[in-house]
Order: sequence, then C-alpha cells, then structure tokens
Amino acid sequence: MTNHRKWNYEGKVAFVTGAANGIGQTTALAFAQEGAAVVVADLLEDGAKATARMIEDQGGRALAVRCDVSRPEDVQAALTAATDKFGRLDFAFNNAGIEQPLAYTADISDETFERNLRVNLGGIFYCMKYEIPIMLKNGGGAIVNTSSGAGVVGIRGQGAYCAAKHGVIGLTKSAALEYAKDGVRINAVCPGIIDTPMIGRFTQGTEENRKRMIAQEPIGRLGRPEEIANTVLWLCSDVAGFAIGHAVVVDGGQTAGL
Ligand code: NAD
Repeated sequence: MTNHRKWNYEGKVAFVTGAANGIGQTTALAFAQEGAAVVVADLLEDGAKATARMIEDQGGRALAVRCDVSRPEDVQAALTAATDKFGRLDFAFNNAGIEQPLAYTADISDETFERNLRVNLGGIFYCMKYEIPIMLKNGGGAIVNTSSGAGVVGIRGQGAYCAAKHGVIGLTKSAALEYAKDGVRINAVCPGIIDTPMIGRFTQGTEENRKRMIAQEPIGRLGRPEEIANTVLWLCSDVAGFAIGHAVVVDGGQTAGL
C-alpha cells in the first residue's frame, strides 16, 4: 500500500462509521491506501469485518467494530477499542446514516421521524462527543460529518431526513467554532446522489428509477463514492488547515440552481 499516495497518512489513525458499505467503505479503503490505520465501524458486524479484511488484504491495518451510532455506549466502546488498539485518533469520518421512506410530513410516522433523527443526527453527536476529548489529548485532529444535499435544501417526502441532515450542519458549525483554537478541525460533506447500496434501495433496482435519479444531476450521472472519499481525505489533510465549519457540497451541481 505504498504506491500512488497523495496525502500519506502513515502513522495516523482514522475512525469511519457506516464503513461496511457505500461511501463509508470506500473512504475507509482510501484512508488505508494513504497509510492510515482504520477503525471500521458499522451496525453490520460481518460487513465491518469484510471491509477490514479488504484493507488487510491490501497490506493495511484495520480494526472492525460493531457499533450502532445511535447508542452512546456503543460509540464510546468503539472508540475505546480504537485507542486500545492503535493508541491515538487523528481523523473521524462520522458517516453512518439511514434513508427515510418517501412520505409527506403529515404521513411520517413518529417512529420513522425519531429513528431518523437518532441515527442521522444523534449518531453524529455521540461520535463527536467521544472523539473530541481523544483528539484534544492528541493535540488535534480532523472530523468530517456526513450531511447531504438534503442538508442544504428541502425535499418533498424527505422531511425527517432533511431535518436531520440540516441539523448535522448546525452541529458541525457549532462544534467547529468551539474547538478551532485547539487544533480540532470540524467540517461536513454534503454528497449529491452517490451510487451506493442506499441509492440501490431507493431506486429499487429499476432502470427507470435510476434514470429519474440521474435526471436530477446536472452533470448527467450519479456520483461515485470515491468522489466523496477524495473530499473527506482532503478535508482531513493539512492542506485544508484553514477550512473550519464548512459544509462542502459535492453534488454534480444538483443544488447549484436551486
Ligand atoms: P449505505 O446504506 O450504502 O451505507 C451506510 C452504512 O451505514 C451501512 O453499512 C449501514 O449498515 C451503516 N449504518 C446504518 N445505520 C447505522 C447505525 N445506526 N450505526 C452504524 N452504522 C449504521 O449508504 P451510503 O449511500 O454510503 O450513505 C452514507 C452516508 O451518506 C449516509 O449518512 C447518507 O445519509 C449520506 N448520503 C448519501 C447519499 C447517496 O446518494 N448515497 C447522498 C447524500 C448523503
């Protein structure tokens, strides 16, 4: 894993949630490619182990942990396992998230609303709550939280998801201000429509639905998970040292004209 390194994160440790699939998995692999040891956290234990194995098969170092980000005790345990194994924490990509079934606001069940907020917003809160003290002890670090295009515009039928993803940006900006002087840089990334298992479920695998998704993207295609991973790795790098409290929209132009 020494070829074609751009950032060279040798000796660094990255914690990635939602790393069994999609954007999280691709970003975990990208951190490892740059030499970082990676803590692969996901609700799906087998999936986390599979990503960790992919990293190890490529010569990297990884630890798989089962972690439900909506449960503070799980997050705390995962981060303890991370520091026990690797001794430090430099980067965190708080990315685990769930979709919301399409429903107008009056038809969203209480359970759907609460679950969406608990995972998509609460999960980010619990991660930062336990990551920040570790980074402060290290003397600094970088955190990237996954919001969404749905964090910057409203979407019909996505009220709970939009509420949570807008909340992620508010939480990110507040925390970014609080810890900027301590060397913990906190930013968010707002992906457009990225080709992952989440979008596969959304389109139910039909070509017609997929075309409808593509039609929302001015660039004329869906995004690739690598395109989000690249942004996350850049935000974590010293090159982005002056980027603080930013919500970086990476969406093929989807929200540019809105
Ligand atoms: P995905 O469904 O492909 O992968 C998400 C991963 O998160 C899964 O492995 C899942 O097991 C895990 N996860 C779900 N709930 C969890 C929990 N409570 N605790 C720990 N892990 C949990 O999704 P994706 O498309 O890769 O999305 C990743 C993130 O990006 C999500 O926050 C999503 O909302 C956001 N996002 C995705 C898109 C897109 O178009 N794919 C667009 C904007 C934002």
